[in-house]
Amino acid sequence: MKIELNKISHTYDVEVLHELELVLTEYNAVALIGMSGSGKSTLIRLMAGLEKPTSGTLKINDWDVTNDAEYKKHIGFVFQSHNLFPHLSLKRNITLVLEKTRNIPLDEAEQIAEANLRLLKLEDQMDKLPKNVSGGQAQRASIARALSVNPDVIFLDEPTSSLDPILTDEVLIAIEELRELGKDFVLVTHVMSFVRKFANYVVFMQEGNIVEQGTPKILDAPKTEQLKDFMSKVH
Ligand code: ADP
Ligand code: MG
Repeated sequence: MKIELNKISHTYDVEVLHELELVLTEYNAVALIGMSGSGKSTLIRLMAGLEKPTSGTLKINDWDVTNDAEYKKHIGFVFQSHNLFPHLSLKRNITLVLEKTRNIPLDEAEQIAEANLRLLKLEDQMDKLPKNVSGGQAQRASIARALSVNPDVIFLDEPTSSLDPILTDEVLIAIEELRELGKDFVLVTHVMSFVRKFANYVVFMQEGNIVEQGTPKILDAPKTEQLKDFMSKVH
């Protein structure tokens, strides 16, 4: 995947991202790590085009994220908690999106939804409401929903942060299996063992800056005091 951040700054009431620069061309699984409040969610939302940066430009796979409305059709986003519609079955949560945002006829939408729910091992749960499945199953359904639009890039912002350790493992195993789909991934997570297994590039943020970056090897041999300190706290 290609990622180009050019002087990306973002301000809510105060500036939370400070002229970020990042150019990557050859990695398909990029992890954003850092303490709570360091700006990871803000950055991943900007990269996905969910928000516009206050200043600067960003390109993902040569798409101009800020100005090209087409871009959003090529990405999927998985949030911290599943945000499925509570009154709709897992399957209907997916077919509705395909019908409304992609104009896909219902019978075709159902085939796509079923295939993706099977991929996430939810074939027995498709007709249940979100409240009647486990948190891990609901989060897997939201991953299936993100995949159903056949995105080139999938963004995941702490997809397991609302889950207990067992459900976390179940969801992380499911995400790991998605590697075989040949898509690009940008992931925020606090699970460093998963970063080591899954990511081929790591970006460490602190206080709205990119402080250190490199292959997952940087986790075991941090160059900066900040990353050293962070690694001592996440264990
Ligand atoms: P992280 O995901 O690393 O925890 P965030 O990107 O959520 O960091 O937050 C970065 C900073 O921006 C924090 O100081 C946070 O309080 C602030 N922030 C995030 N979202 C908003 C918002 N919608 N309005 C105001 N401040 C926000
Ligand atoms: Mg966050």
